[in-house]
Amino acid sequence: MTTVHWFRKGLRLHDNPALLAAVKEGAELRPVFVLDPWFVKHARVGINRWRFLSQALRDLDDSLRKLKSRLFVVRGSPEEVFPALFKKWDVQKITWEIDTEPYAQRRDEKVERLARESGVEVVCRHGHTLYRTEKIIEANLGKAPLTYVSLEKVVSKLGHPPKPVDTLNDLPESCHVRGEAATDVSYDVPSLKELGVEESQLEPCLYPGGETEALARLKIYMERKSWVCKFEKPKTSPTSLQPSTTVLSPYLKFGCLSPRVMYHQLIQIYKGSAHSKPPVSLLGQLLWREFFYTVGAVTPNFDRMEGNTVCRQIPWVRDDKLMDAWTNARTGYPFIDAIMTQLRKEGWIHHLSRHAVACFLTRGDLWQPWEDGMKVFEELLLDADWFLNAGNWMWLSASAFFNSYFRVYSPIAFGKNTDKHGDYIRKYLPQLAKYPENYIYEPWKAPLATQRAAGCIIGQDYPRPIVDHSIVMKRNLDRMAKAYKAGKEKKASSDNQSSPKKKMKK
Ligand code: FAD
Repeated sequence: MTTVHWFRKGLRLHDNPALLAAVKEGAELRPVFVLDPWFVKHARVGINRWRFLSQALRDLDDSLRKLKSRLFVVRGSPEEVFPALFKKWDVQKITWEIDTEPYAQRRDEKVERLARESGVEVVCRHGHTLYRTEKIIEANLGKAPLTYVSLEKVVSKLGHPPKPVDTLNDLPESCHVRGEAATDVSYDVPSLKELGVEESQLEPCLYPGGETEALARLKIYMERKSWVCKFEKPKTSPTSLQPSTTVLSPYLKFGCLSPRVMYHQLIQIYKGSAHSKPPVSLLGQLLWREFFYTVGAVTPNFDRMEGNTVCRQIPWVRDDKLMDAWTNARTGYPFIDAIMTQLRKEGWIHHLSRHAVACFLTRGDLWQPWEDGMKVFEELLLDADWFLNAGNWMWLSASAFFNSYFRVYSPIAFGKNTDKHGDYIRKYLPQLAKYPENYIYEPWKAPLATQRAAGCIIGQDYPRPIVDHSIVMKRNLDRMAKAYKAGKEKKASSDNQSSPKKKMKK
């Protein structure tokens, strides 16, 4: 009698209800991760995230081995590998953590059907978000709350999310993996080479993957009680040379860290102390995560503009040259290019840096579709998350959730707020490092002699600005105003059509 626990996200032994449901006296346990070679070849995953995943899997394997078990990394698509494993291991039960991404749901439905056909019991448990998404929707009368304030209201009715379940730190003997299975290298954690990563292309690793690192990082931040209590997101800095927020996002994305563990630790810290409040507090950040997970779960086509019921239809104009310049940090705006360089090198950028480059690419300057920017983030971010990436891109492009489209980030002035001297630019664009402070954000304005003295000629060693911000911003504001007006008119006309009475009244 064997139970398989299928790890996908949820790469952890703490607060893992589905894993606990797999552990039973008298039954064998096979912890499995499925590595689909098709996915390795085709998925939009950059080298930094592959490294993070391989580290997270190694960490999980190490932790399981300490409990006399191991991780079985099985190569193939889930639909192929499971029917074979069910037979080979005489599997009676399979457990997994619920994943609400549409692609994962389709995959899981198929595996569930295959399991049932093989007489295998399927046990799914929730653990990736604070609340079960359905609960929030149910409490909001069957609809997703479309504003943060309404989400807050609903969750305050629900009370605190469930407390974390016990960490798996002991296994009954029947669950130990012995003999050949324990040493079979065909199930080993994949090397970077197997994941298609050329090691020589990797930069030093700033955020190693895995549960051990996640818990250590959480501990460091939670010990800074006064910092936690005073945390206000808008007051953190995008130009800080060390992260000014927690960088727990990659760990939450892969489920190396349970959001409930973080939530309940925050509640403990807040007890009896004055502290910041949502939406700007650290707890408020977890509620932002919850917000996008909830809306995304019930919105068709959440990751695209067409057919997406929460997204405004805006006539973006695709231009490969502009897109390419933004993607490869060659816009000629040092602040934007420094951020895009940090993203590619390190895989994480501050939230307000994400604001700056997303606004620049879409409604601010380049008028490119938010979906294209989202795809670049999807490849390069360590924390790339289907719900959060799409939701935030819609926000920043003023396509959904946020409608003050006239508030545009200046690619010149915004960075100066927190970094007048331009140290952040100097770090990520060393070719500009010798520019004097008054030209570092606008090097094209420097006299040729200054450019020569700084060792970087604009148009030769660093690009000229690809657009003139002051001109395109005005043009784009006009385009946004028209798109908003068209949206309103379309809505009014469809409201009229669907309600003839209302039409008559008018
Ligand atoms: P902290 O400030 O320490 O917050 C703690 C946690 O709260 C984060 O780890 C994250 O899980 C959650 N959180 C914080 N801000 C947000 C937010 N605005 N929306 C949802 N959850 C939030 N975050 C991702 O995790 N994955 C993405 O793919 C992603 N894409 C984004 C795209 C754009 C255009 C923008 C503007 C933001 C995006 N974010 C994304 C949200 C946010 O920028 C990151 O979650 C945050 O910067 C991560 O850093 P941190 O862990 O230090 O955050």
